Amino acid sequence: MSPGPEPPAEDQTAVGGVHIKYLVHCPRQLWLYARGYRPEQRSDLVAFGEVVDDTTFTRRRDVDLGEAKIDWVTTGAVIHETKSSRAPAPGHTAQVRHYCLLLERRGVNVRGGVVHYPLIRRTTDVVWDDGARTEAEDTEAKAQTVIAASTAPDRLLRSKCRGCSYLDYCWGD
Ligand code: SF4
Repeated sequence: MSPGPEPPAEDQTAVGGVHIKYLVHCPRQLWLYARGYRPEQRSDLVAFGEVVDDTTFTRRRDVDLGEAKIDWVTTGAVIHETKSSRAPAPGHTAQVRHYCLLLERRGVNVRGGVVHYPLIRRTTDVVWDDGARTEAEDTEAKAQTVIAASTAPDRLLRSKCRGCSYLDYCWGD
């Protein structure tokens, strides 16, 4: 499926966690995703991630905000996100900060977040304070700018595209 040149309709422009994760990884990936191009739905890596996600924590509760689905929130409120990745990435932290922002806008007194990496038995704490809020707001604004652009951002250097589910689209013939 080819992504259309038009930006998404207004009711589809809410920025969710996946948008933020993709923005941090590659603005072009966000631009394509926002136009409905979703090769990751066919990706084995994504399927694997969903299995890890479904089996790691059995008593968690999803929090569905519409534009974003938080893995679970514990008393406090602390936001938890599980990743099947074997390496922490800035996009994961940015995604959780965005969830903090969304929850706070709904009147929740957010305490922070944790990214869980069950495959490497690690966690990364995500601070939520004034600096983190400013960063989350800036990141959200950047995502909105990328989504609204009429043309796709340039590709990354090919060496940085390894493992990206959009590889065929960006680099195929
Ligand atoms: S293949 Fe490279 S340029 Fe294309 S979306 Fe992925 S990271 Fe970005």
